[in-house]
Amino acid sequence: MNTRLAFLALCALPCLASAANTGSPFYGDPPDEHHPWAVHDQNRPQPVRVEPGTFSSQEQPGQPPSDAIVLFGGAASDLDKWEADKNPPEPTKWEVKDGILQCVPKSGYIRTKEQFADCQLHVEWSEPADIAGESQGRGNSGIFLEGHLEVQVLDNYNNPTYADGFAASLYGINPPMANALRKPGEWQVYDIVFRKPVYKEGVALDPGYVTVVCNGVLVQDHTPLEGPGGHHNRSKTGPFPEKGPLKLQDHGNPVKYRNIWYRPLPKRTVEGATEGSLSPEAALAKRAEIAQTVREDAAKLQGNAKTLRQLESLVYANDDATLKEVTASVNELVTVVKALPADKLESKKGDIMTFNNALQYLTKANDLPADFAATKELAEIVKAQGWNKKK
Ligand code: MG
Repeated sequence: MNTRLAFLALCALPCLASAANTGSPFYGDPPDEHHPWAVHDQNRPQPVRVEPGTFSSQEQPGQPPSDAIVLFGGAASDLDKWEADKNPPEPTKWEVKDGILQCVPKSGYIRTKEQFADCQLHVEWSEPADIAGESQGRGNSGIFLEGHLEVQVLDNYNNPTYADGFAASLYGINPPMANALRKPGEWQVYDIVFRKPVYKEGVALDPGYVTVVCNGVLVQDHTPLEGPGGHHNRSKTGPFPEKGPLKLQDHGNPVKYRNIWYRPLPKRTVEGATEGSLSPEAALAKRAEIAQTVREDAAKLQGNAKTLRQLESLVYANDDATLKEVTASVNELVTVVKALPADKLESKKGDIMTFNNALQYLTKANDLPADFAATKELAEIVKAQGWNKKK
């Protein structure tokens, strides 16, 4: 037995233990034309940790999640994050009192200095308890996404109006599916998911969507956009600005706001709406990227662990140099195993089964040549030992 073969036999079990402990890499259905990741792929990044916030009560606003960008959290200084919706900009005349932001009628809309696009947005608002006016004249304000599309704020607790101008409507586009409002004077909670339209060379690839949950009730269900909406005139589809401010409307009523925050969402691209299902070109590029990362990781390992990691890289993309290297390594491993006396074979069962599983998986996925010699030889050893029989 030469030095390398001895090393392979020696390090087999300890080296395997260094693999990520999130399951077998040769398990779920492999990547395909649209999916760069295998099903249950252990290389897929873990979700980013976000510390959840707390729910609001009528008496107390809740805390935002840890990665939220707070636009108004109750401090008087938070007003510095806003300005009058005028050009050139000037300070807003809206007021902060007791941790609450209040519209000063006739002072004009306000907008955030911060500009953003796709987001999860949380807004709490409250209508004057002293009811005045009717229809669109009762407690009217509004939340303008990218300064462009209005999610209506209105006292519709007991106040009919045209449906596409109702509270939680996408104004001029789509009514809410339900009236889930609390009484005027109580705090209402909107949780909004905004996805702006995706255009390429003037063609809409995705109309954009808005989802609204009002006081825990789904009222806009991934509603497709028809442009920014608007008053009186039919909305026209078209691209939205790259980014925009959040605007709050002054419609002449002293509506109150608190606890306004957002979480930016990853920009969608023309290649595909989600990371999970991509165009063939994008999937191919992502698979090459994953394969490269796995190969770089393999280069830090030794022995069987390195070989397995290299084999794993072939799940995502072929690479002639890697294939040549693993072919030599696996053939050597087979030689070692075949040279073992019968009473020592059982002690290597774990390694043999691991490699057998990997080679079977890769062969089935056409990631290894059908005539890969080691695949057949390991399968024969497994069969001869009866290890392939289910107990
Ligand atoms: Mg309005």
